[in-house]
Amino acid sequence: MNTESIRDQLLARRAELEALREGSGESRAPVQLDQQSVGRLSRMDAMQQQAMAEATEAQRARELAEIRAALTRIEQDDYGYCEDCGTEIPEKRLLLYPAIRYCVACQESRE
Ligand SMILES: [Zn+2]
Repeated sequence: MNTESIRDQLLARRAELEALREGSGESRAPVQLDQQSVGRLSRMDAMQQQAMAEATEAQRARELAEIRAALTRIEQDDYGYCEDCGTEIPEKRLLLYPAIRYCVACQESRE
């Protein structure tokens, strides 16, 4: 199959994620505990926001790792096969989820 457009998609998504990660630095900074000017509620808000930012960040890191792995598979001409059973993954599925690692059956059995 032609991996050219999939590679482009992966590279674009990687650039997008990397830009987002750089931009999120501020919200991931430790919560400043200023008891005088910040009430208990807003402090909890800040901590909640930080937890959310961390979750988003973890999610992005996971996606980035999957994208890098997919790009490596393309480079090694090993792209498009299920990592579990080795079945060829349908092109439709790959176009929808370019970084996908498993066929439908294996994916479902993992969930
Ligand atoms: Zn499989």
